[in-house]
Amino acid sequence: MAVRDDELPHLRRCVELAAEALEAGDEPFGSVLVSGDGTVLAEDRNRVASGDRTRHPEFELARWAAAHMTPQERAAATVHTSGEHCPMCAAAHAWVGLGRVVYVASSEQLTSWLAEWGVPEPPVRPLPVSAIAPNVTVDGPVPELTDDIAALHRRFHRPSG
Ligand SMILES: [Zn+2]
Repeated sequence: MAVRDDELPHLRRCVELAAEALEAGDEPFGSVLVSGDGTVLAEDRNRVASGDRTRHPEFELARWAAAHMTPQERAAATVHTSGEHCPMCAAAHAWVGLGRVVYVASSEQLTSWLAEWGVPEPPVRPLPVSAIAPNVTVDGPVPELTDDIAALHRRFHRPSG
């Protein structure tokens, strides 16, 4: 399945949430949970600046889904996100039985940007969602929004560059 035109507004909202995270001193990531009938159910942004490095938006949305949705509703839902789920979030997504993932930028793209900017490697290996959750359908990257996300990450890691 490819990324549909009617999903672009959700992905643009993810970019806005990532920008909000950056303004708040957080890493620029944002995610939107959309039901099978296209209704926005929940959204969140990165909140690791609190000191808790597990406060990723995809993890929060997985927990929200487990608390508020039936297994059938979760399976029909899509998580839109500015950056492909990390292994922690991919595992949470699969454990709660959420459906498709659509991301703007892949973990591979983010990893190459960070290497280019000389950012130290993270403590968790940046594997693709498919390596963690083989039954989850994943679509991305979305070229028309990738530059916007790259610019946000660049501002976070190289504020003077
Ligand atoms: Zn994550």
